[in-house]
Amino acid sequence: MAACGCAATAPPAAGPARSVGAPSHSATPSPSPSPSPSSLPLAGRIVGIDPGHNGGNFSDPGYIDQQVWNGQEYEDCDTTGTEAADGFTEASFNFDVATYLQADLIALGATVVMTRDSNDGVGPCVTTRAQIINDAHADVALDIHADGGPVTGRGFTVLEPVADGPNDTVITASQQFGADVRSAILLYTPMPESDYYGTDGVISRDDLAGLNLTTVPKVLVECGNMPNPTDAALLQSTSFQQQLAKAFTAAIIAFLTGQPVSGPAG
Ligand SMILES: [Zn+2]
Repeated sequence: MAACGCAATAPPAAGPARSVGAPSHSATPSPSPSPSPSSLPLAGRIVGIDPGHNGGNFSDPGYIDQQVWNGQEYEDCDTTGTEAADGFTEASFNFDVATYLQADLIALGATVVMTRDSNDGVGPCVTTRAQIINDAHADVALDIHADGGPVTGRGFTVLEPVADGPNDTVITASQQFGADVRSAILLYTPMPESDYYGTDGVISRDDLAGLNLTTVPKVLVECGNMPNPTDAALLQSTSFQQQLAKAFTAAIIAFLTGQPVSGPAG
C-alpha cells in the first residue's frame, strides 16, 4: 500500500538541501480581445506545484537517502519514485503534468512556484519542497505523483494532511481542495477512483513531509497506478496529461473562488 514510495524510517541526521527550483514568474500575452491582466480568474493568486521526485535521483542514492525530519518521523530526503513496466518513470510523468499545469495557470494570471524546474536534477528533499511553497505564501498547492501499487490495481487517490501542529490551520481548507481535485479528475479525465487504496479516491496521510509541514492548503495526488497496464497507458499519453492539468486548473479555480468545479467546456 506504499504511496509514491515515500517510506518513513527512524534513524537520525537531517541533511542540507541541494537543488532548488527557481520560482517561475512570467506573463502571458493576452488573448484577443485582450482582457486586462487583473480580469483573469487567477490574477494575483500564487499556486505551488511540487512535481514529485526528480529524473536524476536514480544517480545519487547518497543524496536522496539522507534522513530528514518530516514533522512526525525521519524519512528519506527523496526517493526515485516508481515506474511503468516499460521504464517510463513517475518523475517524468510528474514533471510533464506540472509543466502543462504551470502553463495553464500562468495563462489565467497566476504566479506559479515550482519546486523543481527540470527533470534531470537531484532532489530537492521533501522538506525543502514544502519550505519553498510555504515561503512563497502560496494560496493553494498540489504535490503531483503516480503510485506504485499492485499490478491489478487501478485509479487515482487524493492524499490529505492530518493536523500535526505546523499544518493545523490548513486542514479544513486542504480537505475542501481535495474534494475539488477529486471531482475535477472525475469530470475531466477517464481515470477512476482507486480500487485498492483509500476510500472513494481519498485518504488521509500523517507520514509525508509535504503534507505534515505545509502551512498552505495542499493535497498530494497519486494520479494513477504505474504498474497497471491500463493506467500506465493513460499516464504516458499526452492527451491524458493535458486533461489532468485542466482538471487541476478547474479545481484550483473552484477552491480559490468558492464555486463548484466547472466541467470541461463544450
Ligand atoms: Zn511519488
